[in-house]
Amino acid sequence: MIRNGSELAKMRRAGKVVAEMHEATRAAAAPGVTTLQLDAVARAVLDRRGAKSNFLNYRGFPAVICTSPNDMIVHGIPGGYVLADGDIISIDCGAIVEGYHGDAAFTMAVGDAGEEARRLLEVTERSLWAGIDQLRPGNRLNEVGRAVQAVAEGAGFSVVREYVGHAIGTKMHEEPQVPNYWPGHGGPLLKSGMVFAVEPMVNAGTPETVTLDDNWSVVTADGRLSAHFEHTIAVTDDGPEVFTLP
Ligand code: MG
Ligand code: MG
Repeated sequence: MIRNGSELAKMRRAGKVVAEMHEATRAAAAPGVTTLQLDAVARAVLDRRGAKSNFLNYRGFPAVICTSPNDMIVHGIPGGYVLADGDIISIDCGAIVEGYHGDAAFTMAVGDAGEEARRLLEVTERSLWAGIDQLRPGNRLNEVGRAVQAVAEGAGFSVVREYVGHAIGTKMHEEPQVPNYWPGHGGPLLKSGMVFAVEPMVNAGTPETVTLDDNWSVVTADGRLSAHFEHTIAVTDDGPEVFTLP
């Protein structure tokens, strides 16, 4: 799907709201704070900006953000979990402005999370930016996953296969998918005006995942740490434009 200038302008505004949710939740995340309190902080940003949530009620999801601590990879439901010094926490946020969607995630350390966690966060974020750099007219979409995988596996970590990035626009999840690994073929040709959410999920140990009994929370099969970074990005003639930066 190719977005025109006015559509891209709305997506840019949705992206700014998501970036503001990131700033607010990052500032609020501290030892003793519950993930439900982080959800309230994110809701306040949506209300203040007159934006809607794309996460709330998505297949019954009960919150406006996903909060996934430590070995949880993605899709954690905000609730009574109390952040502790040494945790890492992935916070995934989304917003709709005038019918157009933004979607982005980051993972942060709460206090001192230790050397492996620090390295995992750094490598996962770097893998996202390596993927983003491939979003240029004339490239093939799956060069994104090839670049993500090279960074993550080059650092000795693994890339989750079951969950992937996606095109985004008037729905949060549009086709095609954006794998975080090389799927064996180049995929669609990139054109100016296409918009994607690129979102590597990188595990310290095995790439295998397990879904918990709440049918949402996805954790690593070996209980080791996982990190998740995501941005919403447009392909433009001037290179990738990241909508979800502050
Ligand atoms: Mg997301
Ligand atoms: Mg996404």
